[in-house]
This record gives sequence, C-alpha cells and structure tokens, in this order.
Amino acid sequence: MMAKKLNELFSLDASAHRVGCKRALFGLDAEALGELMGGMGEPSWRSSQFLEAMYRQYVTELSAITTLPKVLRDRLDHEGWQMGRPAIAKAFQSCDGTERYLVEFEGTAPKGQTAEAVWMPEGDEGEAGDLEGEGAKDWRRATICVSSQIGCAVNCRFCLTAKLGLQHNLTGGEIAGQVVAVLDRHQVRVGRDRVNLVFMGMGEPFLNYDNFMAAVRLLVREVGISPLRMTVSTSGIVPGIEKFACEPPEIRPRLAISLNAPNDAVRAEIMPINRKWPISEVIEAVRRVPLRPRERITFEYVLLGGVTDQPEHARELARLVRRAGLPAKVNLIAWNPGPGIEYATPAAEAVEAFQRVLVGEGIPAFIRQPRGRDIFAACGQLKRTVEG
Ligand code: SAH
Ligand code: SF4
Repeated sequence: MMAKKLNELFSLDASAHRVGCKRALFGLDAEALGELMGGMGEPSWRSSQFLEAMYRQYVTELSAITTLPKVLRDRLDHEGWQMGRPAIAKAFQSCDGTERYLVEFEGTAPKGQTAEAVWMPEGDEGEAGDLEGEGAKDWRRATICVSSQIGCAVNCRFCLTAKLGLQHNLTGGEIAGQVVAVLDRHQVRVGRDRVNLVFMGMGEPFLNYDNFMAAVRLLVREVGISPLRMTVSTSGIVPGIEKFACEPPEIRPRLAISLNAPNDAVRAEIMPINRKWPISEVIEAVRRVPLRPRERITFEYVLLGGVTDQPEHARELARLVRRAGLPAKVNLIAWNPGPGIEYATPAAEAVEAFQRVLVGEGIPAFIRQPRGRDIFAACGQLKRTVEG
C-alpha cells in the first residue's frame, strides 16, 4: 500500500502552471520563453528581458515590464498570459526576527491552500557548520526556507506538516516563486547580499523531484543563487537520491538526510518510510552523490526526549556515521512541539551532552537553534495555520 502510494507520487512531471484560466509567465525558463517569443514572431532576445524582469528585478505585473513594447504586453494579456508569481498572503513576525509567510498560488494550488516559507535574518548560517567564519555578521546574511509540497505524505510521527497529508505538489514556478517573493519583500540583492536557501519547509522534495529540480535550475541560472548556498533535505527517498546523484554539480544543491535515529528499529518507529528504505539503503544511495571539494553530507537528527536523545543513542549514531565513511556532519535539532503530537523536547543540557559524545567520537556535530518557535516557524512546525 505504502509502496504503491509512494510510487504513484514519485512519477510526477514538471508542467508549466496555469493561473485560473490564465497562463503564468513566472516559472518559465529561458528555453520556454524563447519558444513563446519565437511563436509570436518576436526576436529571441525578448526572453532575456522577461528573465531579467521576473527573476532579477522582482516585477510582479506583466504591465510593469516596461522594457517590452506595450503592444507585446497587451497581446500576451489578450492571449491569456499573466505574471502569476506566488504572493505572500500573510506574514507572522517572531521576536527573534524570523518571519513566517503563508504563500498563495492564485488558481493553481487547491483553493485557499497556502504553502509556508520562512525568512531567518542572519539565518542558521545556511546549514550550521558549512559557512563558518565567512564575512561580517549583519542581517544581510539570511536564510530562506521554502516548501516543496503543500502538506506531506511521508507521515513522520514527530512532524506537524505530516498531519495535513499531501495536498498539492508545487510546480517549479511555485517553489522558486516563494523564494523570489521573499527576496522581493526584503529587497535582497543577490550577489551583494548573502542569502542561503534551505528546501526544508513543508513537503518531501524528492517526492516532487522534477518540479523541485526545475525550481533549482531557475534559482541558479536566472535568480543567480549558487547551488552551494542551497541545501535540500530528504527523509531518505532512495530513487530521488539516486537521480540527484546524477545532476551536474553546477545545479546540484548540498544534501541533507533526515536520519533522526541511530538504528532501523527506532527509525521505523518514528519514520514509517524506513520500512521501505532502511538506513543502509539510504546510505548506499548517498554514497553515489559525487561531492565537491570540502562538501559534506549533513545528517539531521531530531532529538526526541527519552526516545532518541540518550547517550547510548549518541554513541550508536557516531558508529553509524563513522561506518558510512562519508565526509559528513551531524545537525542536532531539539524537537519543536506541535499540538496533538506526544513527544517531549529534551533539555538544553541533554542536547549539549549528546553533541559532546559525538564530538568526542570525532564526528562534527552542531546544534541548530530553533528559530521563530513563537510563530510556529521552527523545523517541523509548518502547517496551514493561520494563528500566530
Ligand atoms: N521532508 C524533508 C524536508 C522538510 S522537514 C525532510 O523530512 O527531510 C525538515 C527537517 O525538520 C527534517 O530534518 C525533519 O526531520 C525536521 N523536523 C520535522 N518535524 C520536526 C519537529 N517537530 N521538530 C524539529 N525538527 C523537525
Ligand atoms: Fe514530511 Fe519531512 Fe515532515 Fe517527514 S519530517 S512528514 S518527510 S515534511
């Protein structure tokens, strides 16, 4: 049953999205725009004007792309095209500077359903431990966390997003559009400001693979963000990791694996997906990813009080990571609570003790500080909530 469901979910292609009965320009890449312009008898360089306006200048209306002749804009409008960029419908502000957004996709996602994105000024340094010692500390180093799906089908027991089930696979334009909407809101200038992306919002990116990678290609090639500043996190979808291993390094983000347990028995208990793809198979697939110089795999580990946070778990985790023999680090995340989920958040001392065991065993380990817990923006708390 689980296998069938997952296989169905996995065979999704990336289609251009329609906005109601209109067609969205946002999300089209250079090739698609070139074809569109060619079909209208326009010179191919017109597509660069679209790319510049949509992905660099954050223009939100077709009528505002003033580099294009008005007659072309009118004709596109007449033929049913509109910009269709995802929009921030609601923003929640945390006392720590974090902002959580409900993002709307007019006409494409099921009515009234939003995805969530998070802005973390000064971020968590992208992925804790990857960017140490770089540059000055100011808000211009920020991390944006975006969703790949509305809801999620994977059903990890500790995660609030799981409660929604899978509602919608976001298109490439809808995923990249969350990023561009947030860059626009904060007037980020890519290239001058340091921005990191994490695909760690709602959903499992590797169960919406083609759309996820379409978004990455837009973000790298058109928005101009380096794939080394992006990290994608997966719960361990082996066919997805295998495809990812074949992506060219110039468009491949860094990889994080949500390990969350030191052995199959505990992992299967908290992540039912482990019954389909156990730890050894996940690690075998990760081994195929050709790493770039100094690149490391991140193992994410959510600490559940009494369930995964004991010193013996830390020792077993250290053995597991050592045996994997990969350049790797561990990111420790104390469980963030959510309504209707019966786990306990470990005390800060327990998290630090866990880290000390790992470091003592020679495994680089970092503690991810929770961001925006007061607005339900922290890891695993993203759900279609309208409450603060
Ligand atoms: N679906 C992907 C990416 C989104 S979840 C994945 O699972 O990897 C991003 C991270 O948040 C994962 O490492 C996940 O284990 C963690 N997470 C989920 N719920 C959490 C919670 N309640 N507290 C802390 N971390 C959580
Ligand atoms: Fe889905 Fe990730 Fe939450 Fe698991 S932790 S249910 S894979 S979003």
